[in-house]
Parts: sequence; C-alpha cells; structure tokens
Amino acid sequence: MHYLQNNKKITAGNSRYFGETHLKTAIVNLMENNEIENFVENNIKNFQTNGKGWNKIIREMLIEFAKSGWNLDNQIFGKEKYACLQCSSFSNDSEIEIFRSIRLKFKKLSGVTCQECGDKSKQRIFKGWEYTLCKNCYLEKATNEIYLKQRSNLEECKFCGYFAFSEDKCKFCGNYDFKTTNFTISKEDFANELEYIKYCQMEVYVDNDDEIELSKRTKGYSKSEKYKILFSDEELKEYIEMIKSWDEIDNK
Ligand SMILES: [Zn+2]
Ligand SMILES: [Zn+2]
Repeated sequence: MHYLQNNKKITAGNSRYFGETHLKTAIVNLMENNEIENFVENNIKNFQTNGKGWNKIIREMLIEFAKSGWNLDNQIFGKEKYACLQCSSFSNDSEIEIFRSIRLKFKKLSGVTCQECGDKSKQRIFKGWEYTLCKNCYLEKATNEIYLKQRSNLEECKFCGYFAFSEDKCKFCGNYDFKTTNFTISKEDFANELEYIKYCQMEVYVDNDDEIELSKRTKGYSKSEKYKILFSDEELKEYIEMIKSWDEIDNK
C-alpha cells in the first residue's frame, strides 16, 4: 500500500526504542484505520436514502469495501430503488467481483432493515409505493395518512367479524365475497365457498402483513360478538407453514 513508503522515516527513527516489527504493525494499523475512516466519511455523502435507518449498514458496507482491497480513490454511490439499497461506482475490471458481491450482500440486508429506524423489517406496499419498514414505522406512517371512512349499510363480515362489509368487499379486512373476482386470490384454488372463507379467516388471524392491526388502529368499526372461527388448529398449522415457505422464497 502506498503509505508504507511515507512511513519508512518514522519507523527507522524509533526502531531503537520499540521492537521494529511491532511499531511498523502499529503504524500500519493506525494509517489503515485513518484511511478507512476517511473513505467512509468521504463516501457516505454519496448516498441518498429516505430516512436514516440504513446509515449503519451503509457505513458497514463502506468499511467492507475498504478492507476488501478496493481502490479507495474510487467512490461508491448509492440510492434507494424498489425499497432496497442500490450501489454504483466506476471501477476497473479487477475490482468488479468485489463490487458485485458486496453490493449484493448489502442490497439483501437493506431489504430486511427498516429505512426509518434500522430495525428488522420487511417490504411493504403503501399507496402504490414500496417501502422497507418495521411494524411500528409502517403502522405509524400508514396511520398518519389514513382517515376514517364513512360508515353506512354495513353488514357483518364473514372473514373478520367486523361490521364493515359493504356490497362485495370488507372495508376492515379487505377480503372480497366469494362470487367477486379479484386479483389477489384465485377462486379456482378452493373446493367451495367454505374453504375460501376459512382461508380468509386464517389470513385475518395470522395478519402476516399487519394489515388487520392497521385497521384496528385506524378504522372505527365494531366487531360482532357472534363471529365464529371456522378453521381447525390443524388447518391453521398448515396455513402458517405455507406462508413461511412463501416468505423464504421472497427472501432468496
Ligand atoms: Zn422502523
Ligand atoms: Zn372483514
């Protein structure tokens, strides 16, 4: 590394008092740490993200670049794209593999790190945009923007039990009537209406995307005391296994 030449004088001058090798190592470490610190500080301003939640992993990433043999004169840039951290740089061919692997590692990490607070999180779609947010930050963000909707002519929903069903859709849990076509669930997958209702009830019960929790906090509907759960423990277990495997596929 280039600073070694600059330090020959210091090393030679003090070598009588300290073990020469030790001193050399200490100075090299010090210089290395300084260089890494400067690299991080110079590059961190090249990153544009919403919120401060990724600052810690961006620093970790820059340190990893610095320690990987990356040419520290090459700047790293980054921004958020589809709720993940995307990096770019001008590098020469010999560094392209270092760049690819570090970029991919931290892109994945950003996908499970809340962009607001840095907690463990997942990807959410809110008002048509993608975000990586933890439960609290998501609910807070969404609560601030969702207003109570007018209630009128509402029936009890078979899926969630809230008095929020109007025409063909529940305003509380978002599920549609079996007869209505919608694009989130394909009705052909169910043997009959009962199976469909059980599936929707389990979705509400598990609340994997925290949508029900959000409705509880933002929507003033009341719950029916007659609401009955139709699925069995066994069916619930199967359902949980199934969504777990979907999450695993998503995170690959
Ligand atoms: Zn958060
Ligand atoms: Zn409902």
